[in-house]
Amino acid sequence: MKLLFLGSPGVGKGTYAQVITEALNIPHISTGDLLRNETQKDTGLGKKIEETMNQGGLVSDEILIQLIKTRIKDKDCENGFILDGFPRTKNQAENLEKLTGITHVLNFKANDEVIIERLSGRIVCKKCKTIFHKTGNKPKIENICDKCGSELHQREDDKPDSVKKRLKIYKEKTEPLIAHYDSKGLLVEITINKPISEIRDKVILKIKSYLEGKTDKIGEIK
Ligand code: AMP
Repeated sequence: MKLLFLGSPGVGKGTYAQVITEALNIPHISTGDLLRNETQKDTGLGKKIEETMNQGGLVSDEILIQLIKTRIKDKDCENGFILDGFPRTKNQAENLEKLTGITHVLNFKANDEVIIERLSGRIVCKKCKTIFHKTGNKPKIENICDKCGSELHQREDDKPDSVKKRLKIYKEKTEPLIAHYDSKGLLVEITINKPISEIRDKVILKIKSYLEGKTDKIGEIK
């Protein structure tokens, strides 16, 4: 199963991907996380990527396509994967098609006020990248990751100026991909306005049942 998660920054697709990766036992490939790993390396390229990301811009298609090309060749991707954050441009989508087929595209939606609240309250583990929220999906111990015990922090690009830029770029460059995948008959819409902590099991159940072909739409999960 080769899944692609689409949706605006802050819609929660990374959180859902972290849940579904466990439920389906296929790897979660977040290009944001792959790029953040690159920024940890003390290289000129790492620094350039970090600057672009902090400002909320898009890293070049060339770098992204190379990263994905390498990652999906790994052995753990043999039975499929979840792509989260890629493709973000038409050019990336066309290049992905040359590399591999995609079986399902899940387009996540939420109300605007929910998206803003999710972005401003998001806190992420510095080490394992697990996503929490200051109010909706709190860690058991304040500021400490439930999974690995490392410190949590707010991403630099979740600060207001970068968020504005990310939302604008999403509308211009990434949103057109919804129609692109819809025309191929691959797209399903999922709306989730409630915090994941309240509806985790339902989200897993509904997505699984869709992927198993038991239903042909998902809609809002309440
Ligand atoms: P994310 O963790 O998906 O929100 O991504 C964080 C940042 O990484 C984005 O704002 C971009 O700067 C960069 N990024 C992630 N994926 C891509 C992509 N497919 N194309 C270009 N830049 C990306």
